[in-house]
Amino acid sequence: MVETKYIFVTGGVVSSLGKGIVAASLGKLLQARGYRVTIQKFDPYINIDPGTLNPYEHGECYVTEDGHEADLDLGHYECFLNIPTSKANNITTGRIYQNVINKERKGEFLGKTVQVVPHITDEIKRNIMILGKTGRFDFVITEIGGTVGDIESLPYIESVRQLRWELGKNCLCVHLTYVPYIAAAKEVKTKPTQHSVKSLQEQGVQPNILVLRTEQELSKSICRKVALFCNVDEDAVMQSYDVPSIYEVPIVLAEQGMDKIVLQKMGMPVDGNVDMPQWKNFLENMKTADKAVTIGVVGKYVELPDAYKSINESLLQAATYHKRRLDLRFIHSEKITEGNVVEMLSDLDGILIAPGFGQRGVEGKLIALKYARENNKPTLGVCLGMQCMVVEFARNVLGLEDANSTEMNESTPYKVIDIMEEQKNLTFMGGSMRLGAYDCKLDKNSRAYEAYKCDLVRERHRHRYEFNNEYKDLFEKKGMKCVGTNPDTGLVEVVEIPKLKWYVGTQFHPEYNSTVVRPNPLFMSFIEAAIKD
Ligand code: GLN
Repeated sequence: MVETKYIFVTGGVVSSLGKGIVAASLGKLLQARGYRVTIQKFDPYINIDPGTLNPYEHGECYVTEDGHEADLDLGHYECFLNIPTSKANNITTGRIYQNVINKERKGEFLGKTVQVVPHITDEIKRNIMILGKTGRFDFVITEIGGTVGDIESLPYIESVRQLRWELGKNCLCVHLTYVPYIAAAKEVKTKPTQHSVKSLQEQGVQPNILVLRTEQELSKSICRKVALFCNVDEDAVMQSYDVPSIYEVPIVLAEQGMDKIVLQKMGMPVDGNVDMPQWKNFLENMKTADKAVTIGVVGKYVELPDAYKSINESLLQAATYHKRRLDLRFIHSEKITEGNVVEMLSDLDGILIAPGFGQRGVEGKLIALKYARENNKPTLGVCLGMQCMVVEFARNVLGLEDANSTEMNESTPYKVIDIMEEQKNLTFMGGSMRLGAYDCKLDKNSRAYEAYKCDLVRERHRHRYEFNNEYKDLFEKKGMKCVGTNPDTGLVEVVEIPKLKWYVGTQFHPEYNSTVVRPNPLFMSFIEAAIKD
């Protein structure tokens, strides 16, 4: 029986330092050494999952194959490790409390007072170990969301403290902190790091490894100072300085021997170096690509860098494989008008119409799509983007005036997109959409088939509305084909206009399934069309 090793990644000083990237990078290095690795995220907020949070709160909502609405860091984990995550990889305080309260209502605590310690911490520990106990992994890396010192993180840090005690050498703590550069003093400052480590120590956790986030490379003497003041071995003080791409972080950490330090501290054999030829090749392509491909993402959250995270990464991956530099333009759908659409979209090589919910920005998406269709611009519509393709075609080609999705207008005379049957009577918002991976059968004679090179694909979903099959014949007769359908339900998954260069809409989200070593075929095909003259 293998002994699973547990690595915890905590963060200090400020949020947004990139704990997820550091966790994913470490996972990548261990995986490259042949270990079986998974990464999970524990988030200290009360929502049961991020599915009910809007992108202003929490960036993109990621979706796992098994239909869990998850933190976007799971996207990083999948993208780096190239293995799927699941519901078990993302736990929130809300879920921990829900489980404990359900047990309490069932009388499982036998009359005891239910408390944060030990009941909540026991439930956190149980959840931390679930994937490890399957025997499928040598390493389980757990990222603890939030910042050390937050009130809401306390039960998690206490659980880590207990697990370290219980697991001994099979447990290790990595703490990520920030070393700011103070321009006026022309100096980097280690005090915030010292305080954040102290705060962790006060809670009984001594980090084994520190990763210092910095804008510029730090001198040896700074790292030595941090080591001395924080009780951490000098060679276990790593730095993660700003690099042009998140995909360089594993290389930066490998150069400092992070994987070796981890193995050494856990009493495992340390020999050789990690080799990641495909990864390095990818980075090389990214650095040497001189020609650009210009893609416009049309959506209503374009001012938020993380709102379309998986889409951005999928485009970047596909462009890199085509040896192109991605020139990504964000176009605010609310700002597009009949008057400015040419100016806004004409110099793009390809247009992606983003997913979303609600009416805001939809009219702009429809104007963009009319322009794209009439000017034969390679276009990919994702989820709401696909639904908008259908609405635009209905209004402007089929002449169905005011055709709409019933999400936008319940009393539209032409419900070309309508609520799914199973969604009609649902009153709960959380986790109740059509979620996760479903099969899709593709017509052999389609762009989508050309892209995937097979007729049965599985992609992930997150929606309540669908193409209304009553209109299928009419659409097909006039040139928009339904080329992908769910084989069990007949639900339309992919629409295309074959006579155009590349005009494809998918009800599913191909962006959730694109990784550095396995870019999504549909994105590959979209970029290929965009760079073709
Ligand atoms: N709002 C649409 C629906 O629920 C599309 C959802 C999406 O784009 N993820 O069907």
